[in-house]
Amino acid sequence: MPELPEVAYQKIYVDSTSLHQKIVKVDLGAEKIFQSPKKDFKEVLMNNEFVSTSQIGKYLLLEMKEHGFLVIHFGMTGKMDYFQHDEIHKHAQLTLNFENGGKLSFICPRKFGKLFLTDSIEDFRKEKNLGPHASDLNKVEFLELFKRKKGSIKTALMDQSFIAGLGNLYVDEVLYHSGIHPKSKAEKLSEDELEKMYKNMVNVLETVTKSKTEGTSLPETFLRPHRTEGDDCPKCSGKIKMIKIGGRSTYFCPACQEEK
Ligand SMILES: [Zn+2]
Repeated sequence: MPELPEVAYQKIYVDSTSLHQKIVKVDLGAEKIFQSPKKDFKEVLMNNEFVSTSQIGKYLLLEMKEHGFLVIHFGMTGKMDYFQHDEIHKHAQLTLNFENGGKLSFICPRKFGKLFLTDSIEDFRKEKNLGPHASDLNKVEFLELFKRKKGSIKTALMDQSFIAGLGNLYVDEVLYHSGIHPKSKAEKLSEDELEKMYKNMVNVLETVTKSKTEGTSLPETFLRPHRTEGDDCPKCSGKIKMIKIGGRSTYFCPACQEEK
């Protein structure tokens, strides 16, 4: 599932292709994608244009010249596609034709993506119960959040109402670089460990976003290329282990990450 860095990449993509162009035709796909009546999407988008974008966690918000925001959640397999040719992708769930001849599609083969309309970012944030966007947090704010947090650290970091943007893959990655066992209790972590976790969260999100944008591989020292039970830990002579936490496959190195 796209997490914060993949959505950050989609944001850069939309910024570089689709802002400040009048929408002259709107084609809509499967009913379940649209979280308001489809006719509302058509009415709002037609003759409108995108003026800027922003992000809260796994949501991309496209601000329109009029009528607020189009909000995109990418589900499992969603992505944006900008093109000039006539043929439309068979899994396009929304296609906007711009006055200059360019087209922007939201492609979503498994149809787990969602599109919303909202007048206000704050209303949307409240409605979806979203915490602060992970990349916007500074160290002091991050430490402050943890003063009242209890329970498994993995579950805490996955909780979108606590911090928005991290999912299964990058929570494991952050904990791995921090030497923190995913079953450790949030309340047992020292300030040093929390600071280390903050630094690693920033680094993981930046590194993954950069690799998406530049089309390069992740560093070999990352856990992600080694997410296989029994694979060699890239940092020590230990072996990667898989356990389930909250129903999610969780990969870690028992030698590098001691449970607290
Ligand atoms: Zn290790």
